[in-house]
Amino acid sequence: MHDAIYEGELGNSHEEPQRLRILEKEIITCRKCPRLVEYREKVAREKRRAFRDWTYWGRPVPGFGDPRPELFILGLAPAAHGANRTGRVFTGDRSGDFLYAALHKTGFASQPTSLHRDDGLTLNSAFIAAAVRCAPPANKPLPSEILNCRGYLERELALLRPKVVLALGKIAWDAYLDVLKSQGVIASRAKFAFAHGTVAKLPGDGPRLVGVYHPSQQNTQTGRVTAAMYAKVLRRVRRLLAEK
Ligand code: SF4
Repeated sequence: MHDAIYEGELGNSHEEPQRLRILEKEIITCRKCPRLVEYREKVAREKRRAFRDWTYWGRPVPGFGDPRPELFILGLAPAAHGANRTGRVFTGDRSGDFLYAALHKTGFASQPTSLHRDDGLTLNSAFIAAAVRCAPPANKPLPSEILNCRGYLERELALLRPKVVLALGKIAWDAYLDVLKSQGVIASRAKFAFAHGTVAKLPGDGPRLVGVYHPSQQNTQTGRVTAAMYAKVLRRVRRLLAEK
C-alpha cells in the first residue's frame, strides 16, 4: 500500500478515496493471470544486477496520483525492472523519466523525476494507471490478460470521473475504447484510429480521449517521440480541460 497515493484524503468523509483504497488493495493481491504472476515474481526473485540490493515489488502495480484528477493517463503495463521493482507506475525506468519530466513541465507533476515510492512525487489533477497491472514478458500482454485487467480500469474511471483520458500508445488507446464498447457507448473501435496527438470524436459526454505515442525508450531514443511532441499534446490537454 502506498500511503502517498491518496495523501491528504485520508480521514475525511469523502467515499471515493476510500473506495480507491479498497480497489487498490484488491489490485495488489490479484493473481488472475497465471503467466504474469509467474513472470513478475520470477523477475522479482532473480533481479537485475544493478538492482540486486532492492527488494522488488513483484506484484500488480496500482494507479498513482491525485484522487480528484481531471486527467487520467493510461499506460500499457509495468516494466519488469521499473514499476515491478519500485511498486509505483512509471517509476524507476527511462519511460518514467521522460513522462514525469513532461508532466512536470506542464504542471501536472510536482517534480521531474520519479525514482522510488518515497521520493515525494505528487501529481496535480492527474492520475496514472496501466491497462495491465502486472509486468508482461517482453512488454507484450496477451489480449486475455488485458481483458482480465479491464475491470480495474473501469472501476477506477467510474470513481475518478476524469475529463480527459490520455492514452500512451495504441494498446492503451484500444483498452480504453474496449471499456466504452463494453459499456455500449461505441459499437466498435474501427472508427477511432490511433495517432499521436489525435483527439477522438467519441459520442456522449464522457471524457475526451487523446492519444500520444508511448514514451518507451525505443521511441524516445530514436526520436520518434520528443519532449516537444509531448509538451504540445499536454498543452492541448490543458485547453481541453479548460473547455470542459
Ligand atoms: S494483469 Fe491485472 S488481472 Fe492479470 S494478474 Fe495482474 S492485476 Fe490481475
